[in-house]
Amino acid sequence: MPSQDDARSDSRRPRVLVVDDLPSNRRMLARTLSTLDVEILEAGSGAEALDLVIREDHLFVILLDVRMPEMDGYALAETLRQLPKAATLPIIFVSAHDSDTYHHHRAYETGAVDFLSKPVSPRILLSKVKVFLDLYQQRSELEDLVTRLDSVNHVLSRQTMRLETNAEVIHQVASILDVDRLLYEIVLLIRERFGYGYLGVWTLRHGPEGDRIVLHAGQYGTDTPILEPGAVLDLAAPLSIISHVCRTGAAYLCNDTHGDPHYLSTEGLEAIRSELTLPLRFGNTVIGALDIQSEAQDAFAAEDVATFTTLADQIAVAIRNARLYAEVTHLNDDLEAMVEERTRELAHAYRNLELLDRNKTDFITVVSHELRTPLTLIHGYSQMLAMDPMISENQLRNQEVQGIVTGAERLSAIINAMLDIVRIDSATLRLDVRTASLAYLLEIAVARLGPVLQERSLAVVTDGLDTLPEITADPDALDKVFLELLSNAMKYTPDGGRLTVSGHLIEADGKDDAPYVEVVVQDTGIGIAPESLDLIFAKFYSTSDITLHSTGKTKFKGGGPGLGLTVARGIVEAHGGRIWAESPGHDEIALPGSAFHVILPVEPSRSAAPRPSLPDRLPGSASEGEQRSG
Ligand code: ADP
Repeated sequence: MPSQDDARSDSRRPRVLVVDDLPSNRRMLARTLSTLDVEILEAGSGAEALDLVIREDHLFVILLDVRMPEMDGYALAETLRQLPKAATLPIIFVSAHDSDTYHHHRAYETGAVDFLSKPVSPRILLSKVKVFLDLYQQRSELEDLVTRLDSVNHVLSRQTMRLETNAEVIHQVASILDVDRLLYEIVLLIRERFGYGYLGVWTLRHGPEGDRIVLHAGQYGTDTPILEPGAVLDLAAPLSIISHVCRTGAAYLCNDTHGDPHYLSTEGLEAIRSELTLPLRFGNTVIGALDIQSEAQDAFAAEDVATFTTLADQIAVAIRNARLYAEVTHLNDDLEAMVEERTRELAHAYRNLELLDRNKTDFITVVSHELRTPLTLIHGYSQMLAMDPMISENQLRNQEVQGIVTGAERLSAIINAMLDIVRIDSATLRLDVRTASLAYLLEIAVARLGPVLQERSLAVVTDGLDTLPEITADPDALDKVFLELLSNAMKYTPDGGRLTVSGHLIEADGKDDAPYVEVVVQDTGIGIAPESLDLIFAKFYSTSDITLHSTGKTKFKGGGPGLGLTVARGIVEAHGGRIWAESPGHDEIALPGSAFHVILPVEPSRSAAPRPSLPDRLPGSASEGEQRSG
């Protein structure tokens, strides 16, 4: 019993057809050919031969007797030539009597390839048949090769198409940010390239009504769409390959929908026989599915799964990009709205501040002017009282009246400082500029404070003042500055401490720079915390609690209104100079001390601005000052 393989190889074996009305002749020929690996078919008549040629395949030669009843060999050969299947089939005539030239011609006219005379030599017959067998086998091999090449070609062209589609999708993902348009384009591309009429990108939506899967792009059905964008599936649906894939996150291939445990038959889509569904994922999170359906059974090959998995990954990236973009745009809009809101609030606050500042300046101006007149009266009358013998001769009364005089003088100084600040703020401080000797001004100031310095056992050391050149400045204004710095040095240095007043010239450096002088007032007092170094120059700023002030212009830690340094800075800057403080920190036990630096131009610049920028090389120029206080 031949195996199935044998049967298949038998059915493919080359066949030779022997046509002769005499069975003995047929047998003789068959015996001769039996050494070849061929199948021998026999026909006893032309009709029988025709029937066999029509029915059987793999014939490679016909051995045809010339003389036969009803249909002779020539008639059969002519009929065979009319059949497309046998038009080129080689025919060898075998004849006992008709081996003359006429018969040879006749035979060749009917399309014979050879003519053998009986008795046939087995060797000759075998070698002739073998030639045709070889030809047949070579042709078969060639045909096989062509078939194989065709299929390789087919695989290659599908592979090329897949790669091209992937590349196009990647390009679109990179260039289209509108997710709806992008998915529409991708779906269109897959439909055009692969010809699937049932294709959709589904996305998961979490909402109050539960988790649903919505058809985002694509459609099902070519002529009449059955499902279109907006169609909804329940994530929990027990039947539905799309829901199943969204739940499991794994691709699902169904090449025969009949009997598939997950396939859900939809009305109008009964013809669907294959479905391939791939999850769309960000990392481990499933956000939807790419679903392709076909009316053909076994529509998807293993390569299709790989191709569409890559496409699904690209689609997921596209959706994520689009969502991120939307999020960023949204955030940006929110931020812009917030910035606009804050800008409006700031502008409003700034207007309010400006108003408040103007009100404060107006208030200070009014109060100072209004206080001045009665204060002048108090000062004048109290001085007159002090001179009255009834008072001057009574020690207690004299002390009381002197208290009124000192108080009035202090009040007057404060009012003057307030007025100076108003002038500085409004840039109306007028300098009476002339030649001034800083050495002289500083010596006078120290001398004026002499009695208090003595009383508080504070030593004063001067250094380099005699090397200072005369400068062009307002000496009265600078007197206020130095008196303020010296008073502060005394106030914030405990009894027994030391004040150092030094000065030096900063030579001009380069063609555009003017020379400057620097004066430093240094003490061995309580020092200043780094965060206060700049703040102490602000209006009404005091490092100590204002309610605990002990009043006194020279007493240790005697409080003041916090105006002195503001006025000093206004005056120095009006001269085109700069003032700043340096100190290792505030410590009332260790007494690290402070140093106040004043830099003034030897000649004020022609366009003296209230806030000049000093050359970078000078200490105290804006950048350096910021570093120090930073
Ligand atoms: P006040 O009238 O309060 O002295 P100032 O404007 O003169 O106002 O000084 C402001 C603040 O700067 C003072 O309250 C003090 O805390 C600080 N200060 C000024 N000079 C010194 C100094 N030499 N040593 C320590 N602190 C000082």
